[in-house]
Amino acid sequence: MPELGFSTQQVHGGVSTDREHGARVAPLHLSAGFVFDDFDQAEARFAGTVEGYSYTRLGNPTTAAVERRIALLEGGTEALLVGTGQAAVTVAALSLLQAGDHVVSANSIYEGTRNLFQHNFARLGITVDFVLDAADPAAWARAITPSTRFLFGEGIPNPKNDLLDIPLVAEVAHAHGLPLMIDSTLATPYLQRPLELGADVVVHSASKFLAGHGTALGGAIVTGGGFDWAASSSAQLIEPDPFLAGASFAERHGRRAFIAYARDVVAARLGPAPAPFNAHLIGQGIETLSLRVERQSATALAVARWLETRDEVESVDHAGLASSPSHALARRLLPRGQGSVFAFTLRGGLEAARRCSDALVLFSRMTHLGDVRSLVLHPATTTHAHRSPEQLHEAGIGPGLLRLSIGVEDPDDLLADLEQALATIPARGAAVTP
Ligand SMILES: *Cc1c(COP(=O)(O)O)cnc(C)c1O
Repeated sequence: MPELGFSTQQVHGGVSTDREHGARVAPLHLSAGFVFDDFDQAEARFAGTVEGYSYTRLGNPTTAAVERRIALLEGGTEALLVGTGQAAVTVAALSLLQAGDHVVSANSIYEGTRNLFQHNFARLGITVDFVLDAADPAAWARAITPSTRFLFGEGIPNPKNDLLDIPLVAEVAHAHGLPLMIDSTLATPYLQRPLELGADVVVHSASKFLAGHGTALGGAIVTGGGFDWAASSSAQLIEPDPFLAGASFAERHGRRAFIAYARDVVAARLGPAPAPFNAHLIGQGIETLSLRVERQSATALAVARWLETRDEVESVDHAGLASSPSHALARRLLPRGQGSVFAFTLRGGLEAARRCSDALVLFSRMTHLGDVRSLVLHPATTTHAHRSPEQLHEAGIGPGLLRLSIGVEDPDDLLADLEQALATIPARGAAVTP
């Protein structure tokens, strides 16, 4: 059979057949532990010499089925599912970092990850430098030091849609013997497969498009076999491990070393295991991923184009628009669509943003994205509220900027909702009634 298409794999990939009952859908194994047949099997499971499950923090068949499906869709070899997207970034990063190490990250990344890097990691003795001009390979190269362990970025950052040239950053990383980690939450494997563009590790918040319905949190780490971890500079992968009889993870696991360490040592001990029920919801969500993302991307572009024609709107940050500085990159790296999370800036500033946001009916005011329902958020007073006015200005997040995450509703209904909301903004120069 030829290689299966994405939409076929999202429903057929990774499922385990339930030999006992023949269940078509991967069963939900809500069990903390798994029985050992006998004394010897318990010993063998702990030694890792026989396949099988022991305890859900270390692995669960429901979770494993979702991991196989995500790995397939990303074009990777293995995935690890954890409790949240933040846990995925944390586990992946701490599988490569220890005190004294350094990360080079794009400046335009998810605010939670930025704060994790800048504040939590600082307390662990790990430093990070942010690259302001992520399109300049020399800027990345200049930020790399002998202590740097990986480069980090997001394919589609929000709210500005200032796309990352993943092949360009991968080239810099590999020229310095470093892996590149990409948070691909907003792209999903349907729009972009970072491993095929040169990235070595992909992380996701599965709480967003993968789960898709706003019901479950989850995170995923995916790798391919591309990076030679024996040549990496991360001590935990190349130094002898006390649990491997003096061998290193790179010696024992080869190209699997990173994901094996992430699974067996970091996730297993720090403990952010996903609930099997949430894994089940994520697995079910993925079955319609391509349908949702294709529709949501197309509607988002239509909404962005419409907003650009409106007098109340100063600018629209959507990579699919010819006016976007990222438009050429979008055509090269995101030909199937540019996702459905973008921002627009109202001429009337904070007051206009407040009026518009409060007048929206179909759009839910929420700090979430990738839901089947459309959402609206005002970053300057919520996710980015702790930033100084200068930092907000530098990031292009003004008082009039609203972020949208477009759902699967009928496009005309969304446009009608936006139109009535824009109509509540007082005309510029007119007296504002309180
Ligand atoms: C939401 C999000 C995260 C964090 O994921 P959680 O599941 O909320 O922990 C990380 N990165 C990006 C790009 C996100 O949108």
